[in-house]
Amino acid sequence: MTPSRHFALIPAAGVGARMGADCPKQYMPLAGKLMLVHVLDTFASCNAIAHTYVVVSKEDGYIDEALAGAKHLADRVTVIHEGGATRHQSVLNGLCAIRGAAGNEDWILVHDAARPGVTAELIERLIAVLKNDPVGGLLALPVVDTLKRSDTEGRAEATVSRERLWAAQTPQMFRYALLRNALEKAIEVTDEASAIEALGLRPKLVEGSPRNFKITLPHDVALAEMHLKGKP
Ligand code: C5P
Repeated sequence: MTPSRHFALIPAAGVGARMGADCPKQYMPLAGKLMLVHVLDTFASCNAIAHTYVVVSKEDGYIDEALAGAKHLADRVTVIHEGGATRHQSVLNGLCAIRGAAGNEDWILVHDAARPGVTAELIERLIAVLKNDPVGGLLALPVVDTLKRSDTEGRAEATVSRERLWAAQTPQMFRYALLRNALEKAIEVTDEASAIEALGLRPKLVEGSPRNFKITLPHDVALAEMHLKGKP
């Protein structure tokens, strides 16, 4: 039996409306490099990753130029122009497109283009912990703040226990066939682990890092640049 390989799948078909930038946020320059190129470079630097697939929208007018400026990635990255209306659909379209290139037992690491703070160490940690795992899992951070649930007027109605609560990050790593089956059955999920949970399985939570946060709002940019400046 051939050993399982690891493939990265990067959904990058969002428009990043909350960022209010004049291009989709994954194409914003950050610390001298486009956000998406930071992510692709990090996966390309991991020996364990056999290949990276990036899913962009059908009408994406930025990816060719982005990759023209990153020629070193040419044989490490393949672009799939099959983005969907939601992240869920973009990931599923990507999985369908790589059918054949990835076998049923191969591992797929799904990672948001909007998390450029991921590092090779974090990816390698996830892969090492899940090596013999029957389900798969994800990077996540234990919640440290006291949590409040608000009423409709924005006033604290209750304090929610943070015991055993984690904030989900990416990469989220599952075997091809299980992940595709889970996403095909799920109604609408915001991450892969939710779809796996809906099958009654329990993804492993592997400690991530605060630097791997998702860039969403304009004020996230300065913090991301601070983290990325130390990175090649
Ligand atoms: O919008 P948000 O930051 O939650 O998106 C998370 C990731 O999913 C981003 O990398 C974004 O480009 C991607 N996405 C996608 N297709 C969509 C919406 C979001 O690939 N329709």
